[in-house]
Amino acid sequence: MVDESGGHVGAVAEGIQPEYVDAGGSPRRRTISSPYVHRLQRRHFLLFDILPFLGTAAALALLAVRPIGGTEIALLLAMWLVTIMGITVGYHRLFTHRSFTATPALGKFLTVCGSMAGQGGLVSWVALHRRHHECSDRDGDPHSPNLAGGGLTGRLRGLAHSHLLWMRRHEYPNVVHYAPDLIADRGLTAVARRYHTWVLLGLALPTLVGGLVSLSWYGALTGLLWGGLVRMFVLEHIIWSINSFLHSFGTRPFHSRENSRNGGVFALLTFGESWHNNHHAFPESPSFGLRWYRLDPGIWCIRLFSALGLASDLKTPSPRRIALKSVRHAPASPAAVVSTGNGAS
Ligand SMILES: [Zn+2]
Ligand SMILES: [Zn+2]
Repeated sequence: MVDESGGHVGAVAEGIQPEYVDAGGSPRRRTISSPYVHRLQRRHFLLFDILPFLGTAAALALLAVRPIGGTEIALLLAMWLVTIMGITVGYHRLFTHRSFTATPALGKFLTVCGSMAGQGGLVSWVALHRRHHECSDRDGDPHSPNLAGGGLTGRLRGLAHSHLLWMRRHEYPNVVHYAPDLIADRGLTAVARRYHTWVLLGLALPTLVGGLVSLSWYGALTGLLWGGLVRMFVLEHIIWSINSFLHSFGTRPFHSRENSRNGGVFALLTFGESWHNNHHAFPESPSFGLRWYRLDPGIWCIRLFSALGLASDLKTPSPRRIALKSVRHAPASPAAVVSTGNGAS
């Protein structure tokens, strides 16, 4: 990911072959690769992916000094809840796939919550994920585990790439092409652009609460570690596992052109994201579980927002459409296959 939130890296370098011409007649490329962009990606990787790992190691080492108490556990859970909701309900279901409509205030609130996860600014995240749906498990997918060759070595290399290593350096999707709806929303980008501020807020809040509850600097430190860095580390690996393991292992109840899988056992931990085959089959659906008995806290939040009048226009797929794509209804109709996984925007 790039650490800029909504940085419009849309310019085409001189002499680089454009891939398409936009409505205004300007030549454009779908992705951008430049030393400047790669420098930002490396910096983001070190700050937001390696630092939480080091923080987690420090938190575990401190357990030898003093065991954690209820405050640290409560901070870890509360901050995990807020940030995973920001990612799956805000970044993913609302802004990437427009699976429902939210009031501007709710959209901004979810942007702040998602930014605190430290997984990239909203516009970059959305552009990368829309490209993932466009190219899933084919050339151009930023994080497929299935393009590194066969055999055990190829599988392991693919898993390592899709889980973590792709973030060090990758083709940056042109946000002018992939997220024009977001960059046209000035109110939203004004919030999204403060990505670093929101990440810091996500670290400052548990630090403050930890310090105030224990009235000690040590409490502030453990608040920072458990509610901040450990929480970021845990959530990152949860989301990255969707990219890596759930494009490799799990069940496949629906026809889809890529190798996405469901991992129902992780449904609560991932806030419903682990219904990943369901999601690729019906990217426009606000529910990833699709049925009430498949646990999906993400859709529970959306229904709560809807009951409060903050969300509307839930694009729930019809039972007939769901039945048509089911592998039990083989073979898939050509229309179902064509639309699979391409409803990213
Ligand atoms: Zn996927
Ligand atoms: Zn998606």
